[in-house]
Amino acid sequence: MSKKAYIATFGCQMNEYDSEQMAGILSNMAYETTEDLAGADLVLVNTCCIRQKAEEKAYSFLGRLRKFKKKNPDLMVIVAGCLAQQEGRRLFKKNPCLNLVIGPQGIHRLPELLREAEKNARRITCTELATSELPGHVRGLNGKRTVTAYVGIMTGCNNFCSYCIVPYVRGREFSRRGEEILKEIRGLVEQGVKEITLLGQNVNSYGLRAAGECSFAGLIRKIGEVDGLERLRFTTSHPKDISDDLIECFGSVKSLCEHIHLPIQSGSDRILRRMNRKYTRDDYLEKVAKLRRICPDISITTDLIAGFPGETEADFKDTLDIMRQVRFAGAFAFKYSDRPPAKAVTFSDKLPEPVTRERLSRLLALQKEITYNRNKSMVGKRAEVLVEGYSKSSPREWMGRARTNEVVNFSGDGDLPGKVVTVAVEKACLHSLKGSLAVE
Ligand code: SF4
Repeated sequence: MSKKAYIATFGCQMNEYDSEQMAGILSNMAYETTEDLAGADLVLVNTCCIRQKAEEKAYSFLGRLRKFKKKNPDLMVIVAGCLAQQEGRRLFKKNPCLNLVIGPQGIHRLPELLREAEKNARRITCTELATSELPGHVRGLNGKRTVTAYVGIMTGCNNFCSYCIVPYVRGREFSRRGEEILKEIRGLVEQGVKEITLLGQNVNSYGLRAAGECSFAGLIRKIGEVDGLERLRFTTSHPKDISDDLIECFGSVKSLCEHIHLPIQSGSDRILRRMNRKYTRDDYLEKVAKLRRICPDISITTDLIAGFPGETEADFKDTLDIMRQVRFAGAFAFKYSDRPPAKAVTFSDKLPEPVTRERLSRLLALQKEITYNRNKSMVGKRAEVLVEGYSKSSPREWMGRARTNEVVNFSGDGDLPGKVVTVAVEKACLHSLKGSLAVE
């Protein structure tokens, strides 16, 4: 009988992708994934510590595992991801029920480490950062019918934004070989995947530091030629590295969807400098104008930080102002929080918590208004939707995404998952659109 593995994932798409890979590795080791935590033989907690909230959630989940370990002392508990990298052996002290701690670059060593932990009942840590190219990726679709999939194209980051710990927990930038990426994508398309999202901390600098590798725009063009791939997306882009060549792809690569996530973080030049972002608000606006010239319907989403150390009310108003100018389709907004050893931890002019909280709620309120108005402007229009499955809110409705990335729930008959259909948009909600299958 196969053993059961429960996988809990916290954090970004990168972590979801890593969890997918670990599910693939565990399946090769005869572990079947389960949704039943109480019946699991192994619990893998893939953590994130990029933001304080994600870290708190991971710790709270780890705390819950104690009672399961008490009931079943043989339960294997593995912590992976950024928190594992950051805390290493300290996690054993904080949470005695753990068996294995594996950083993001130790994923491929999971089989040997797990065997070792099982055999010798020993607690093991694996948190070395790679100094040369990382080994190939392992896919974990496990025969599931999947319409969309992530493909990691690079890992790590060299940018050292002053608030961010990614370069410390995910290491320096490595790009995967283009041929390996294309092979993985072709394999996924053969299994029925219609939409690929390319992942990396800064996909725009793909290939820059890999001898003989093409640029990111070159990679997009090659992937655009893969037969059967309906849609292509990527995340995340650093505004300083988005090239004219890449912008041009939005006008020429048919499968590349009209959406870009372009984190601005702040609308104030003074704060952008302190964040070490290496672009100004005008640089950002210029890139947006170029994108809209090439692709007028492109939807642009972003990340924002409220209450960065030293942010004045005037700096904050610059952020509100740029939000109104760009009219972002959506934004992930967070309160600034210290993430040691990032440089901003040492800044002495931190803002009081009530100020950051109040600014965050103003950011969120403005974004809500912009997103809702944008969604309302789509009512009465038609959207090309790739159907992913049943809607979460109603099993009688289908759910998919427009090319511009809005979630669309709609009614309609047929076996639609994996198909691209036209939906008549009838209603705007805050986070989605509603409609019905259009009769052509
Ligand atoms: S670009 Fe900046 S914010 Fe993004 S991962 Fe790198 S250091 Fe962090």
